[in-house]
Amino acid sequence: MVVLVIGGAGYIGSHAARALKSAGHDVIIFDNLCTGYEFLAAGFELVKGDMLDASALARVLPRADAIMHFAAHAYVGESVSNPKKYFHNNVEGGLSLLNAALEAGVKNIIFSSTCAVYGEPAKVPIEENTPRQPVNPYGVSKLFFEQALEAYDRAYGFRYASLRYFNAAGADESGEIGELHEPETHLIPLALRAAAGLGPELQVFGSDYPTPDGTCVRDYIHVNDLASAHVKALEHLAAGKDSFAVNVGTGTGASVQEVISAVEEATGKQVPHKMVPRRVGDPPALVANPAKAQALLQWKATRGLHDVVATAWNWMERRREATR
Ligand code: UDP
Repeated sequence: MVVLVIGGAGYIGSHAARALKSAGHDVIIFDNLCTGYEFLAAGFELVKGDMLDASALARVLPRADAIMHFAAHAYVGESVSNPKKYFHNNVEGGLSLLNAALEAGVKNIIFSSTCAVYGEPAKVPIEENTPRQPVNPYGVSKLFFEQALEAYDRAYGFRYASLRYFNAAGADESGEIGELHEPETHLIPLALRAAAGLGPELQVFGSDYPTPDGTCVRDYIHVNDLASAHVKALEHLAAGKDSFAVNVGTGTGASVQEVISAVEEATGKQVPHKMVPRRVGDPPALVANPAKAQALLQWKATRGLHDVVATAWNWMERRREATR
């Protein structure tokens, strides 16, 4: 199939593009390069354009059989201080993409959703039928797109997969592509930088949570496991099966303290860190129940926290050498 990868020059999209290619699909990347990097799309056809530009989409969509949509702003804190930016890109941009797809008759779409659609769930591990009650504009923008897909399915026969990611982390084993955010706010890259002496000491946001060691628990899913879930989702829809939403996580939680230990083990260095107050809006624990993805797609994560941290470290080291 020919897959149009919107946001394919970004962190997760670039890994998905490679996974699609290895599975024998043709990839066209469409990216405005606002947070993506051209070198992450190396080896692929790259169309530079914005989702809000309907005519740019109309030029490329007729060549596509399916769409993977990764292009979104994804900082929770920024979405609280600047919701306009999030609704403009994630909602208005998303609708522009959906309407261009409708116009072009491309009806298979795989969407990067998030566990943030659940907000602060009453029960962990989280199942897909947990009420969707996002607690920040980022989560609201993703829920909006999920619901738009549901409506376009009912009205126009779209078929979609909403993949609700937990904490995407790690890097391709080649060390050629990986996570590159500006500014970086994510735990694993910040802990690695602190260990390498390339950044300030790590601040641990909260040590009084109702978790075994008092720090927040998250489900860190390796980006290549995420990428393989996309390929499985595409093939599921291509086989004519119904639309669906699934959690994409490992099912195992790790606390901030456990991540620090994993980083120390992978790097052989201490992570200088200090405990600071909780970050606003962080639920104590977010862990997937991934049973539905396993049953529906025969997919499950094959990499654990150790692989996540080791590949992220390899990528950081490679990148340091390349930019030296
Ligand atoms: N975290 C932390 N210090 C940091 C960044 C993150 O203690 O400098 C914690 C954060 O409170 C959360 C976990 O690490 O519990 C993962 O945060 P991240 O920002 O990586 O992802 P999020 O869960 O917000 O998507």
